[in-house]
Amino acid sequence: MPELPEVETVRRMLEPVIGGRRVLGIEHDDPRKYRRTDLAVGRRVRRLRRRGKFLLFDLGELEMLVHLGMSGSLRLDEGTHTRVRIELEGATVFFNDPRRFGRLALVRRGDYREFPTLARMGPEPLSRAFTARGFHASLQMTKRAVKTALLSQEPVAGLGNIYCDESLWLARVNPLRPAASLSADEARRLHRAIRRVLRRALELGGSTLGDGVYLRPSGEPGYFQIEHRVYGRAGEACPRCGAGLQRVVLGGRSTHFCPVCQPPGRS
Ligand SMILES: [Zn+2]
Repeated sequence: MPELPEVETVRRMLEPVIGGRRVLGIEHDDPRKYRRTDLAVGRRVRRLRRRGKFLLFDLGELEMLVHLGMSGSLRLDEGTHTRVRIELEGATVFFNDPRRFGRLALVRRGDYREFPTLARMGPEPLSRAFTARGFHASLQMTKRAVKTALLSQEPVAGLGNIYCDESLWLARVNPLRPAASLSADEARRLHRAIRRVLRRALELGGSTLGDGVYLRPSGEPGYFQIEHRVYGRAGEACPRCGAGLQRVVLGGRSTHFCPVCQPPGRS
């Protein structure tokens, strides 16, 4: 699933192409999934913003929200799984979505009632609003495992399975630990690790896995997968201590960690 680095890479590449252009039409055949698209016609895209894993086309008093779901991508070339064509003056953007989990909706600016995850979303991890102290306080308020809490988007925005596993490994925190059990020092390490992992992933254009689902709008892959330390590496040696990396399923998601560097108790 595209996470913050992938969605932000898409945003950075598309904004110069579509910023300032007027929407001429939006074509699709699923009005339940792609909602109120007629409202965009004739409006100019002022900016393309991102919040967590959502893209927000700023159309003035309206916003067009796009969530790429499991396998969606916004591309400048048409694909066999194009579900939506966004026609702009002098440019066309294609929303490709083989598995059809993506969504798109026109809403009044800031009205995210149809998207509760967005309405409750925590701070952007690379912004000043994301502080170690606030992060620790937020983790203290949940009974969930720390990884589950991160996936909820509430303590911090934008992390999915890959960047959770990589950040927890870098911070030496076990993903199954109750979030509320993290000490201030552990929360600080995790805060730093999240920012470091995301910055590096952004530099490399995100992660393209073997399924080739995520590609940049130009069709190029990202390269952060080369630097994955634990994600998808169960059975390989931990790059820090040499122990065998493990995989468990937590809340239905594969979770990768080092049983030695990330012990079940405080570290
Ligand atoms: Zn290790």
